[in-house]
Amino acid sequence: MQDAPNLQSVETTKLSRSEIARRELLERICAFIVRHELTVTGANLASIGTALSGANAALSQAFASREISGDPIDQRWLDTVARLDPGTGARVEELERLMDKMEYSMMRFAQSAKSAQDETSEHRGAIDAQIQAMSTKPSRSEGTSEPSAVGEVDRVIDLSRTVLEKMEQVENAMERSQAETDRLRESLAKARTEADVDHLTRLPNRRAFERRLASASQQAQLNGKPLCVAFCDVDHFKAVNDTHGHDAGDRVLVAMSNTLNGMASDTCFVARHGGEEFVVLFYGFEKKDAVAKLDGIRRAQGMKQMINRETGKSFGKITFSGGVAQVQGIDDARDALARADQALYNAKSEGRNRIVAI
Ligand code: GH3
Ligand code: MG
Ligand code: MG
Repeated sequence: MQDAPNLQSVETTKLSRSEIARRELLERICAFIVRHELTVTGANLASIGTALSGANAALSQAFASREISGDPIDQRWLDTVARLDPGTGARVEELERLMDKMEYSMMRFAQSAKSAQDETSEHRGAIDAQIQAMSTKPSRSEGTSEPSAVGEVDRVIDLSRTVLEKMEQVENAMERSQAETDRLRESLAKARTEADVDHLTRLPNRRAFERRLASASQQAQLNGKPLCVAFCDVDHFKAVNDTHGHDAGDRVLVAMSNTLNGMASDTCFVARHGGEEFVVLFYGFEKKDAVAKLDGIRRAQGMKQMINRETGKSFGKITFSGGVAQVQGIDDARDALARADQALYNAKSEGRNRIVAI
């Protein structure tokens, strides 16, 4: 005779299956990161996890096709393809809307707390003065009025004193919550700024860059001024990591970002796009001028002798390649970025350590 199905063991099997699936997914994500030498960041884990778990069909398809084609799966490709996950953009927007709401409510709270505080302190002052006047009147102590009336006045004075104390406590509490609100608003503003900054180089990050690109192209169209965009990529950077280690690689990236940002003029906007790639916006620059400017930075960088301060060993020459394109109107911003990327690809194919324009 067959045993009746045991609910407990069915549940256990189910649980362990999902646990197994979870572990398998983690192992696949891990193997993927190692295989393609990708950096472990929250964003990378999210898009790789989404693709490998099949949660987003378009993303899974893009990953599979790329692996089959044998084209490199690097940070740049990952950043581009991550846009296929529409959820990310929507989540960021939702978060920003929430932050706006929170900031608005905190501002309103701070305003009402301040006016309530001003009002109570005004009333408190008035009552205080009144009590002083009443308690110093001679009629009270000399007892010329009827005794019961004097007792009434004393009680009113005592009660008023208690009210005054309470009011003072409320006022102090309001002052404290206002200070707390101010601190919260400051933290919120800081968190907003941090969201736009790359943690390693402290340059604006890709998110900040994309926003800037959109507004700069609008501005350029309105003012009728030229606007150029450049993609820069450190040459043979993987070899730096392989020879000197990841931390030394990080220091090279910081040095590179300082050179780019320090030498770019005030009318340039430099950001880290991801990995060992930087992007620059050249406000008011014609293409040839942007090329000349970036080429000057490239030459200066190529002349530097960089030393690994931990080991004293030379990094050799650390160079970069760049691709430049001119933005032709608001609708062209994305395409111009793609052209700059293509120009960078050409610069790499032509031998690196050069600037190419399209
Ligand atoms: P190419 O001249 O063609 O650009 O060669 P490359 O070696 O610079 O390019 P590749 O895309 O093969 O390698 C880029 C390397 O950059 C791989 C990745 O591990 C490394 N990388 C990306 N982000 C960081 C980072 O934040 N810190 C460090 N140290 N390395 C990073
Ligand atoms: Mg690269
Ligand atoms: Mg590179």
